[in-house]
Amino acid sequence: MKVDQMLVQRSNSACELCSSENKLQAFGVPSNTSPNSGQSADTSVLLCEHCLGQIENPETTDVNHWRCLKDSMWSQIPAVQVMAWRQLTQLSSESWAQDLLEMLYLDDDTLEWAKSLEKETDEETPTTDSNGATLNDGDTVTLIKDLVVKGAGFTAKRGTAVRNIALTTNPTQIEGKVNGTRIVLLAEFLKKSN
Ligand SMILES: [Zn+2]
Repeated sequence: MKVDQMLVQRSNSACELCSSENKLQAFGVPSNTSPNSGQSADTSVLLCEHCLGQIENPETTDVNHWRCLKDSMWSQIPAVQVMAWRQLTQLSSESWAQDLLEMLYLDDDTLEWAKSLEKETDEETPTTDSNGATLNDGDTVTLIKDLVVKGAGFTAKRGTAVRNIALTTNPTQIEGKVNGTRIVLLAEFLKKSN
């Protein structure tokens, strides 16, 4: 049986993260340690268009969409656990995501797999805006170009001010509220306001 077919069977034809049945696709869980990612069902998950788009383009992340992880993180399938752990870690400036992450238990091998993508230097790298100015929690920034927020279905216009930003575990990204929706923004498209 092909990987896709095995995944469809395993998931009952539903996204393994949010249960949507919309445009499902196999996705090889990225790994730095296993070159065989995606070649078997064990290293793949079945994702809907919405989840996949946000995972491949983190700048389009719709934070609230990932509340679906409160159910899917209890999956018995390690590949799904790894995806849930990584998404929650990425959103860990959200208190609900932090709470879920504390409840999520992975066995040693699965946790190692989940962490295998983390870069060792991340902690020391400051988050900087388009001019190289260091950004901090609580700063106000301005968008320097129009950004399509796919997950939330609107375009954040150039010149929009985003107040009270929050840094993320990824130094290239911050979180902030645009049009009332909390989204992830790429720091390189922002300018710090004074
Ligand atoms: Zn989904």
